[in-house]
Amino acid sequence: MAIDHKDEDPRELVASLCKDFYKLGWVTGTGGGVSVKKGDSIFLAPSGVQKERIKTDEVFIVDFPTGAFRFEPEGLKCTECYPLFMSAFRLRGAGAVIHSHSQNAFMATLMYPGKEFVVTHMEMIKGLRNAVDQRAYRYDEKLVIPIIENTCFEKDLTESLTRAMSDYPAACAVLVRRHGLYVWGDTWQKAKTHAECLDYLFETACKMKAAGFDPTAPE
Ligand SMILES: [Zn+2]
Repeated sequence: MAIDHKDEDPRELVASLCKDFYKLGWVTGTGGGVSVKKGDSIFLAPSGVQKERIKTDEVFIVDFPTGAFRFEPEGLKCTECYPLFMSAFRLRGAGAVIHSHSQNAFMATLMYPGKEFVVTHMEMIKGLRNAVDQRAYRYDEKLVIPIIENTCFEKDLTESLTRAMSDYPAACAVLVRRHGLYVWGDTWQKAKTHAECLDYLFETACKMKAAGFDPTAPE
């Protein structure tokens, strides 16, 4: 039987996901972030704090879809990723959005100097879903993740991120060059699975390229 997560406190979930992602190197140095939607509320990790030590009363709560703050923890700043997270909730119907500063995502944007990260014939592609029809990708399909250019301030990425979302409706993520990844899913479980599979694919594709293999075509 599937485990029922319905009664889970979304503030605890945000805190525990931050702890998990800290261990993976995705939210170290206070970077990156996590947001989860439950009903008409969105729960966001604060900015500029040690992400592995967030307490439940330090999690911001925002009304969906208005974006009005329902709870602002005293003395804490909301994440700069807030407008980017809201784009995925509004435009993609996301249930959770993860922002990772993973080195694998960073390196993938250097190994793929164009506007797309492309891989095929890799088993872990099957863990990702096409955002248009929610169908799981097949092993032999091409997975394409758009890459946008970084800006000096996180919030200034909003326009190019939303453009990439509409240009690539099947993609469940957007890479930011020399920065990291925004990834989402219908539920927090799907967002986490997408993030883990993509991180594996970024790392493997970079290693394949370095070893002389082409990750965009079967050998
Ligand atoms: Zn960032």
